[in-house]
Amino acid sequence: MAWPGCLLRIRLLAAALVAWGGRGLQSLSYRSSPAVRRFLRAPMALAGPLLFRIGYSLYARTRLGYLFYRRQMKKARERYPQGHSIAQPLVFSGEYQYSSLNLWGVCSVIEEEGVTLEAILCTHKHWDHSGGNASLRRRHTSCRVYGSSCDDIPELTDPLSDKETIMIGRLHFKALFTPGHTVGHMVYVLDGKPFEGPSSLFSGDLLFLSGCGRIFEGTAETMLASLDTAADLAEDTLLWPGHEYALECLMFASLLEAENPLLGQKLQWVNQQRAERKSTCPSTISEEKQYNPFLRTHCREVQEAVGLQCQRDENWDIFRARVLKEVRRRKDVFKAN
Ligand SMILES: [Zn+2]
Repeated sequence: MAWPGCLLRIRLLAAALVAWGGRGLQSLSYRSSPAVRRFLRAPMALAGPLLFRIGYSLYARTRLGYLFYRRQMKKARERYPQGHSIAQPLVFSGEYQYSSLNLWGVCSVIEEEGVTLEAILCTHKHWDHSGGNASLRRRHTSCRVYGSSCDDIPELTDPLSDKETIMIGRLHFKALFTPGHTVGHMVYVLDGKPFEGPSSLFSGDLLFLSGCGRIFEGTAETMLASLDTAADLAEDTLLWPGHEYALECLMFASLLEAENPLLGQKLQWVNQQRAERKSTCPSTISEEKQYNPFLRTHCREVQEAVGLQCQRDENWDIFRARVLKEVRRRKDVFKAN
């Protein structure tokens, strides 16, 4: 799920409420006791997160979220009538190919190729990842929908648990449980061995090129464990994220780790790719470990960039989770332009 406009508006409303409350507090402060001021500050501090949670629940759990998703899709089609990016099929051993496509891109490729859609591997419930399930299943009634049983995925036919394997034709996938972005987020690893190629990670909103998903339904510790699951994959694993966010993520990472030369090089390449409407996929797990700050919480450079030090007797993973939380917080308020 991207940062949707409705949540932004709710956040602005929260900010307005806090600002209004602030003015109210100022006018009261000269005659109120410290205890009264503390009493008034508490709800103001809670207003932002509370309204955000209400907005997020409406988006993630109700039909209002689906209607919002449909509206966003319509606006995206108007904004990018030729599609957000050019489809660039990548062929492996002549056996299979990948194309980075959005929903309407998927539909037209299915039509052009005259094929039947056999399966949807759904990473999580957010509408921008699952909102097409119903319409695709209406057109391809035998299509299976795989995903986590605890993520309310629409049209789910095959609930999966951690490390479960899926065979679709000659394609052999492993599902990995990676909560944090949502409570049941899953990623899929396609085994490259049968095709003498690298494996592929379809990471949904867990991991992006130089970025990671927002932590909507979990703690920083949960998200860290999920990111470690991705980082533990083979170094040559290809990364296929759920969004084309490379430019913004690299701009943020470049500010955070200004001395990392790989970030400048990658940013230049991504700028070129996007200027030609080309996808920036795939990168590799090895590459990501060298510049993605969310996979680098163990690195002194990132820890120093956010001004955190491991305390004496502090558990190393608890400390890394603190670093992740702070990097994520900074990214949440970062604006690329
Ligand atoms: Zn999402």
